Amino acid sequence: MIAKKRIKKLLSLAKDSPYSKRYVSLARKISTKTRQRIPKDEKFRICKFCSTKLTVNNSSVRIDGQISIKCKECGNTRKVPIK
Ligand SMILES: [Zn+2]
Repeated sequence: MIAKKRIKKLLSLAKDSPYSKRYVSLARKISTKTRQRIPKDEKFRICKFCSTKLTVNNSSVRIDGQISIKCKECGNTRKVPIK
């Protein structure tokens, strides 16, 4: 359970910090190592490709049959199907 707490702490630290990429990649490392899942609502706010914490300023969301979240840092789009 310590791992889960650390992940949450790191992600909350990443919110407004110049080191957010580092915090997020650390959190992802912990989650893969300890097999703790990143909470669902946080998962959507992390870029899978460059570990950026996605905010209103660096991402754009489009909905057309599915949710497309585009990261403006690396230009990759993550698609989430709507159930
Ligand atoms: Zn990205």
